[in-house]
Amino acid sequence: MKSPIISLSFCAALSLVSTGLAANVGSPFYGDAPDDHHPWAVHDPNRPQPKLVTPGTYSTQEQPGKPPSDAIVLFDGTDVSKWEADEGTGVPTKWVVKDGAMECVPGSGYVRTKQTFGDCQLHVEWAAPTKAEGTSQGRGNSGVFLMGLVEVQVLDNYNNPTYPDGTAASVYGVNPPFVNALRAPGQFQSYDIVFRRPVYKDGQQLDPGYVTVFENGVLVQDHTMLEGGTGHMGRSKPKAFPAAGPLKLQDHGNPVRFRNIWYRPLPPRAIEGGTDGYLTTEATAAKRAEIAALIRKDAANQKDPANPLPEMLRLTESLVYEQDEATAERAHELAGQYLASLQKLSPAALAAKKDEIKHLRDVTKYLVRFNIIPEDAEPVTQLDQIIKDQNWDKK
Ligand code: MG
Repeated sequence: MKSPIISLSFCAALSLVSTGLAANVGSPFYGDAPDDHHPWAVHDPNRPQPKLVTPGTYSTQEQPGKPPSDAIVLFDGTDVSKWEADEGTGVPTKWVVKDGAMECVPGSGYVRTKQTFGDCQLHVEWAAPTKAEGTSQGRGNSGVFLMGLVEVQVLDNYNNPTYPDGTAASVYGVNPPFVNALRAPGQFQSYDIVFRRPVYKDGQQLDPGYVTVFENGVLVQDHTMLEGGTGHMGRSKPKAFPAAGPLKLQDHGNPVRFRNIWYRPLPPRAIEGGTDGYLTTEATAAKRAEIAALIRKDAANQKDPANPLPEMLRLTESLVYEQDEATAERAHELAGQYLASLQKLSPAALAAKKDEIKHLRDVTKYLVRFNIIPEDAEPVTQLDQIIKDQNWDKK
């Protein structure tokens, strides 16, 4: 139980933190500290900045849009050099390039990318033949096979009914799209797909895998759970996927055209080593130790016999991520040096350090709040005393 005096002082520190927003942004002692499932503090300035990406542009019927700057382009309208026949490595495809599109030559077989990949954001545009021929599954049929295993159906079912789990943008045989947002045959349709493959470890499923699809900008699959690969007539069964596979496009006997195909690999999920999101306690501890080690390394560069403060702050910061006895001892020693130096200052020189000292007091309150130091630790009481003596909380 805290004494009323300490509680009041603690509240005052919190209120300073919450009202001093601008002053505290960028401080490592600002948002809630790391915990058992989050290696980063809230608003953590040590967290890496998101990489810069220049966004692309939207397509029109006449003109494909530009991919984002970090996209890996699989087909840019000029050649099929990144593709091969699905028969075997290095076998050239017989699909042809016409007017900026890659066209299926019926009977020539599937095409696949030479490159293999797994989780991705994938953009594909396709057009069924302008002259609608055939019915049901026989009209403008192709397919986008993620990792060669999961088919997002390509079909001209514009005014052409067929079984719902086989319409365009269905996860074939598994889940129909929410709606039919197709354009008329001959026009380019776009698919924007977010794909997460199933993840297994030691035969146990950690994540079933999911697919999200926008058809012509309309959401039609929302995080649809995968049930293994897809197939004709048979119920899909959950199974482990490899880490990567080729993207395949289907030859279903119709001259469907494709253009503007690109993907962006996705960062790993927490369950497979990613460090964003809700992590296991083990993964969190490992990442926290890694962050602490980097900060301690930096602290060593801040050593300055004339000014113990920068090294002390950095070492203290590392303790927020990982407790370490030697680090705590060194930080305590430096804090002692700093506090001793304050005793020797003239009243004017001490007054000049008002903001610095109040910030340090806030730091100690943060450390107490997250149980990194006890509330009766010497630096806490000494800083409190100085601030009280100077009446700084009131001025
Ligand atoms: Mg198909």
